[in-house]
Amino acid sequence: MKIKKGDQVLIISGKDRARKGKVLKIFPKEEKILVEGINLHKKHIRPKKEGEKGQIIQVPSPLDISDVKLICSKCKKATRAGYKIILNIKNKKSKIRICKKCDQEI
Ligand SMILES: [Zn+2]
Repeated sequence: MKIKKGDQVLIISGKDRARKGKVLKIFPKEEKILVEGINLHKKHIRPKKEGEKGQIIQVPSPLDISDVKLICSKCKKATRAGYKIILNIKNKKSKIRICKKCDQEI
């Protein structure tokens, strides 16, 4: 999964096309993600107490990972992520995620 929790993504298909949002949750097995304010569905809430009104709230539901594009935190462009192996100060290899547009770590 090249997308992580907390990433900003651009929606590229469906009814929320061209909107942006923050990734709230990742479902690696299903290859789905939950994005804040995107793919909202109405949910009816029953009143908890007698005399209270029921409510309708909007809850986001997961969408396919292929429906979004990562937005780079450095250049703010919709991009693809790549990986690069670097040597850190202790001379140990570590993998970093980079933006294919600006080549910076994201
Ligand atoms: Zn970038």
